[in-house]
Amino acid sequence: MPTTQELSTQISTVEWTPALLKEVSAKLEGGSPQDVLQWGFDNFGSEIVLATGFGPEGVALMHLVSQMRPETKVFYLDTDVLFSNTLELRDELEKRLGINFVRVHSGLSLDEQALRHGEALWERDPDTCCLMRKVIPQREFLKNYSAWITGIRRDQTAFRANTKLVEWDIPNKMVKLNPLAAWTSDQVWDHIQQNDLPYNILHDYGYPSIGCWPCTKSVKEGEDPRSGRWAGKSKTECGIHLDVVAQVAPADTKSV
Ligand code: SF4
Repeated sequence: MPTTQELSTQISTVEWTPALLKEVSAKLEGGSPQDVLQWGFDNFGSEIVLATGFGPEGVALMHLVSQMRPETKVFYLDTDVLFSNTLELRDELEKRLGINFVRVHSGLSLDEQALRHGEALWERDPDTCCLMRKVIPQREFLKNYSAWITGIRRDQTAFRANTKLVEWDIPNKMVKLNPLAAWTSDQVWDHIQQNDLPYNILHDYGYPSIGCWPCTKSVKEGEDPRSGRWAGKSKTECGIHLDVVAQVAPADTKSV
């Protein structure tokens, strides 16, 4: 079995396949998030991008990336309905870590969405709302890259339980890195505290998982941390990690 270093050298000259990535992921298993990130930087350079929704995992990853390859682009999806606290955290991270954020937007204002689909679409059809405001804009943006980095962890949801450290992302047709897949929430928070990193103040007020404000509620002690997302609905994922099929016209995606 070749070493991870040897695999990196080999892979950079061959076409990525799910089988090859499975082999790389197995080799990286048991290593640190930095090992996964380094593998990504070695193989993709400026063709890799970090996604964040400003959760604690994203903060930890932004910290690591800012130390290892500070020029790495970090993008977020501006749905127009983010909490003001989330935007404050973005500004703080920009100052503290020197992150140069790329804002990805659907190009569809809330007024236009209301005209086409009615008011408060997130209450009636959150899948379509997420598709228009998150999934399609992200998919369009990622077409400019070869690999992306996410903060998902295996113990967050049943759907995420089999997440690999590196894998083939079928819907986006690119490589996906999940450096924190094996970490627990406690490990993420330890990293934030040990490095005195900023985080969303809402976490201190019963919001362990934070998305758009219309679809995020506080949870009680002991409840599933993600139960405040789309509370009362069967939906558990916005769709950016799912192989959802676009059923609506592609949005006029803008990134700045
Ligand atoms: S999380 Fe809610 S408001 Fe945000 S895009 Fe999805 S359905 Fe719309």
